[in-house]
Amino acid sequence: MTSSAQPVFRFAPSPNGLLHLGHALSAILNHDMAQASAGRFLLRIEDIDQTRCRPEFEAAIFDDLAWLGLEWERPVRRQSDHLALYASALKRLDDMGLVYPSILSRGEIKAAVADAEAGGDDWPRDPDGAPLYPGRERDLGFEARNAMIAGGKPHALRLDMKKAVLSVGAPHLTWQETGSGPAGETGIITADAAAWGDVILSRSDAPSSYHLSVVVDDALQGVTHVVRGRDLYHATSVHRLLQQLLGLPQPVYHHHRLLLGADGRKLSKSNRDTGIRAFREAGRTPADIRALIL
Ligand code: GLU
Repeated sequence: MTSSAQPVFRFAPSPNGLLHLGHALSAILNHDMAQASAGRFLLRIEDIDQTRCRPEFEAAIFDDLAWLGLEWERPVRRQSDHLALYASALKRLDDMGLVYPSILSRGEIKAAVADAEAGGDDWPRDPDGAPLYPGRERDLGFEARNAMIAGGKPHALRLDMKKAVLSVGAPHLTWQETGSGPAGETGIITADAAAWGDVILSRSDAPSSYHLSVVVDDALQGVTHVVRGRDLYHATSVHRLLQQLLGLPQPVYHHHRLLLGADGRKLSKSNRDTGIRAFREAGRTPADIRALIL
């Protein structure tokens, strides 16, 4: 049964490794919040980056979540089955004149930044600490752009952030945060998409970016509540901007705490000790997992 007032939650893992306790926290919170509000709980497989995703990790996601005792609606949406949809969202942004092809590799960006910093200027960094894209190709004319792409060098399509922010009056974009950000931010939050610079919307080896596909899917699936780890708190600014540009509804956001490993660092999929599977193999029960993380 669905109705427009019914809350919709989703857990959206990428099958690029085994799920760890942090994922268990996210999945259980989504599931329990859906249950507490007579809402729906969806599972979405975010496998756009086919260079890193593997079918055995997808199978492990289903297996681990079922072992945790969670139930989700079927069919499960798999992003790689819907590439045409993300391409059409990208085309809409392009038609608005907000997209440009960029060819600098990571190494070239680093070199450009090092050059500029050698001159004494601090290069701006995004909330994750990566240098903003220099954007040299941003203002190339049509012919120069085509010539650049015809050269055959792999290119990424980027959002012209300044233009995009201006076009929606983005200083006034906000979201409702019912969890909290890294500095305890909660309530009505002002989005700062510009802090990310010209984000990637698609690459030659990944036809849609995380940012683009996540907002398209959340809207298409009618997601009303996005519950996820605090590491994605700042990305919400980009998501709000893309929603505004594409005329998509805005969900409520709830960012939850991150679980840290014994070394004090965020858990990672490569650390086998904190994998859900490892706990299961060590004879721990789903109730033990809940007691450990909730
Ligand atoms: N697929 C993302 C991840 O595994 C999560 C996306 C989201 O919850 O918005 O980190």
